[in-house]
Amino acid sequence: MTSLIFSVSSPEGEGTYRMEATKTSRGVRFTCTCPEGVAQAHCEHRIALLLGEVGHLVSVDPAAVAALSALTRGSPLMHAVHRLAQAEAAEAEARADLERARQVLATILGG
Ligand SMILES: [Zn+2]
Repeated sequence: MTSLIFSVSSPEGEGTYRMEATKTSRGVRFTCTCPEGVAQAHCEHRIALLLGEVGHLVSVDPAAVAALSALTRGSPLMHAVHRLAQAEAAEAEARADLERARQVLATILGG
C-alpha cells in the first residue's frame, strides 16, 4: 500500500514536519521529521494523531485520518498509545492529589 502522509507546522512556523505511516510485515512504520521523531524519541505529533487529534495538522485529509485509524486499530501500537495516555492521566491526577495534600497540610500546620 502507499504511505499515508500528514503535515504538522513546526512550532517556530518556519516550515512543516512530515509524518508518514506505512504498513510493514511487523506492523506499522510511522515516522516524523520533527527533532524528536528523527531521534526516535517521544514525538507528540504522532501520539496526538493516533489518538484522533487533528488540530495540529496543517490540513486535514479525513480519508487519510480514517485510513490511519483502520491501519492501527487493535494493534500493539494502539495498545501502547492508550497505555501512555492512561499513565499521563494518572500522573496528572496524582499531581493534583499531591497539591491538595500540600494545601491541607499547610492549613493544618497553620494551627
Ligand atoms: Zn513529531
